[in-house]
Amino acid sequence: MEGIMRTHVGIDVNVKGLGVAFTCYDYGTFTEVYRLLDEHRDYLAGLGRYGIAVEYYPMVYTSRFVSLPFRLYIREFKYPWDYIEPILRIWVRAHRRGIRNWQRIYRPKFKRMGRRVKHIVPGRSIDYIAGWSIEPRETRRLLKKLFRSSGLKYRVGDEIAEELVFIIREYEAEWLERYKLAVKLMTSKVCHVISHLEEAVVKLEELRGIEEKYRECTKVGRMRWRYVTWLVCGGVSSGISVGLVNPRGTSSKCPICRSQLRTYGWEKKYCPMCRREWNRDTVAGVNISVKPVIEWLRRPEWRTPMKVKTRGGARMKRHSRNSWDTPGAIGPLGGHELGAP
Ligand SMILES: [Zn+2]
Repeated sequence: MEGIMRTHVGIDVNVKGLGVAFTCYDYGTFTEVYRLLDEHRDYLAGLGRYGIAVEYYPMVYTSRFVSLPFRLYIREFKYPWDYIEPILRIWVRAHRRGIRNWQRIYRPKFKRMGRRVKHIVPGRSIDYIAGWSIEPRETRRLLKKLFRSSGLKYRVGDEIAEELVFIIREYEAEWLERYKLAVKLMTSKVCHVISHLEEAVVKLEELRGIEEKYRECTKVGRMRWRYVTWLVCGGVSSGISVGLVNPRGTSSKCPICRSQLRTYGWEKKYCPMCRREWNRDTVAGVNISVKPVIEWLRRPEWRTPMKVKTRGGARMKRHSRNSWDTPGAIGPLGGHELGAP
């Protein structure tokens, strides 16, 4: 069945962007795909206006396939905790005196309740504040760092705590909005290029299982993956199928000789056998594109209830602005979008 799909597109969803590889198994298709990507160079370069860069990597060829890898990434990428850091720094500095006074006055109290003595600590801890963040662990680390540098203990009054929670949520919402926009732009542009192909299969990693737990930045990571997968399902034209592959070893094996890659820093990989240097995202893109599909999300012969638009934007409106982080309700992965095959 898969042999009919002539071009295999692997998309690796990453923190900063997407690793994409167009893989073909015959020369005719390859020239077609090469021309397609060449024609769309300016189109993809247009993303530069939104702070997104495109990087092309050398062609990969083996006796079985030829692959054209490239990657799209957010140029000045910031994690949510990096994004909120400056504003929190200013805030903590401005409120330092007030917090210190509060910490001096309010001590833990002991209250007699029958026989037992109850220990009451007034105010809220930093853990409570960080619990409202989308990345609690990192936000807690950031707050501790800022409090420590101002010589404060990790506890504040209720009103101050609410104010901090408000600031964190507000700025993280802003960050998420920007990030979603960037991810959506990248995905829809890639989908546009793919939609020019008559028949192709787009492959993404299956990250719903155990594997995702071991990935970095889990919460935002999962949301991002769901979002991209959903956009791809709605964003490619009718002749194109979308499937999921097993994520095992996608960024650790050489796609040419299958040997274990060595890692230099975070982004660079090196194959000791072929002496070739790889980028983390693109090697994953190539590996994903050559893997067999284990689950189909979309097939050309399936009749979708709605006419699917090329951009994927039409479907967005059906969900609320915060639909990105409501689990289970999103797109084809929620299960109700595509209908039965
Ligand atoms: Zn190799």
